[in-house]
Amino acid sequence: MSTTVAIDGPSGAGKSTIGHALAQRIDATFVDTGLMYRALTLAALERDVDLDDGPALATLVDACPIEVERARPDQTDRLETVLLDGRDVTLEVRSPRVDRAVSAVSRHPEVRDAMVGVQRAAAWRGSVVMVGRDIGTVILPEATMKVFLTADAEVRAARRANEMGRPDRVDEYLEEIRRRDAADSGRAVAPLRIPPGALVLDTGKLAVDACVEAIIEALERLDA
Ligand code: C5P
Repeated sequence: MSTTVAIDGPSGAGKSTIGHALAQRIDATFVDTGLMYRALTLAALERDVDLDDGPALATLVDACPIEVERARPDQTDRLETVLLDGRDVTLEVRSPRVDRAVSAVSRHPEVRDAMVGVQRAAAWRGSVVMVGRDIGTVILPEATMKVFLTADAEVRAARRANEMGRPDRVDEYLEEIRRRDAADSGRAVAPLRIPPGALVLDTGKLAVDACVEAIIEALERLDA
């Protein structure tokens, strides 16, 4: 039987690291939906599409196919590869200009409607660990298990700054994280919320391995 795990939480909470490690442990496909919104945002920036124009942004979802695939073993700079129209944009989608624009793109109902189908289709392939902001609430409300990962904004900013090799820029990351938290939690459509019944883990207090173990134990309890 296939297992679906929905992991939501704010930026820098460790969703990708923990979700990816969990997927390996339970032999599931890992899907990071943030990468999809980031790739769409890059497409919009490159084509000068107005970030306030939801319908125009949604047509880009069909016009510029976005694919997320497993990284090759030699690609140690990533957990997954994201392709935009066949082009590898994995590193570009993490750039500050995409960070700044992505919440403006993801807030439109037309964009979210277009993404629902793409993301649900990824979950039909079998067992999946999907990470994002609305996975347990909107995309996979029937998931086997829902997890919400969080940590103080300061902890998340320090982590992001280290990941990007810029510990000197921690204040800028903190500002960016606070801005994105407010935008993602305050938007009208599919805001970031703790899904009912979710296992809530604070990744500032629990290490990656401990979070993965806690999720696996909770999954085993469901099976028992
Ligand atoms: O997870 P990550 O920080 O890469 O996500 C980038 C942005 O994509 C988020 O700040 C949010 O605006 C948007 N997003 C979303 N719904 C998801 C995943 C990401 O709105 N399921």
